[in-house]
Amino acid sequence: MPTKIILAGEGGQGVQTVAKIIAVTAQRSGKNSSYLPAFGVEQRGGVSLAYLQISSKPITYPRFAKADMVVAFCDRAIPAIKDFLSKDTLFIYDNSVIKNKSLEKIKNLINNYLAMPALALAKEKLSSKVANVVLLGGIIAHLKEIDYQEFEKTLLEEFADKIIKKPEIKDLNLGALKAGIEIAEKFNKEETPFSGIEATEIKTNFSKEKISWQRFPEYCKGCGLCIVRCPTKALQFSRDSGFLGNPMPIVTIEKCIGCGNCMQICPDGAIKVEKST
Ligand code: SF4
Ligand code: SF4
Repeated sequence: MPTKIILAGEGGQGVQTVAKIIAVTAQRSGKNSSYLPAFGVEQRGGVSLAYLQISSKPITYPRFAKADMVVAFCDRAIPAIKDFLSKDTLFIYDNSVIKNKSLEKIKNLINNYLAMPALALAKEKLSSKVANVVLLGGIIAHLKEIDYQEFEKTLLEEFADKIIKKPEIKDLNLGALKAGIEIAEKFNKEETPFSGIEATEIKTNFSKEKISWQRFPEYCKGCGLCIVRCPTKALQFSRDSGFLGNPMPIVTIEKCIGCGNCMQICPDGAIKVEKST
């Protein structure tokens, strides 16, 4: 029987990169693998999903109904992965990102889980950009039939172009992979309950006469484009985090002229500006 894996997260979280690395490594290790990316249809906020199978026999169809392993990178992945869970599924998730209220929705379906503080660890010790590789480490710790060294080779090949320009990327990725494997190997359900983070109330609406400025943390990746584009310097990074854990912009509404530049430049639809006449 193939090993069936579902990975789900936001665009920009590296879901497809992780899936590709696993599929390629399985093949270079003499296994069959299939990898099917699937993206949400909404213009903004579509969940990035990957169907992955590994088998010693030919794989006949890339989609499947229930998964042996489900990996959730963010809150909005939870509704997308729910139907793939069964009592035999291993559920891997980032417990430094996913909120308790999201986990509550699938709690009754989970028997076996691995909670990994991937983003928190990556941010603190490496770089937030390698949080997906920490999760990759957690996955491959459960794919014992494939040699770890082969994963390292594929990982470095995947980032070869970037490593040429910035050699430190090599150690960041290898460090993240090893950290992920270590978390998985030491994981003990008795010590780590099935939980995530508590939702914090973030102020999202700001307004003054005739101008309303709104931000959507669930879509903001913290790129800062809006801040650069604001003609009145009304925007700056705040202490609040968007879905990737990066700082999110906040407006000084008194300085905002309602031009809408920030809304137009934002690639993720994370700002809405309304100006009434
Ligand atoms: S609407 Fe214009 S002035 Fe207001 S925050 Fe956005 S870019 Fe700045
Ligand atoms: S609101 Fe949009 S443009 Fe601004 S930091 Fe967030 S994602 Fe980038």
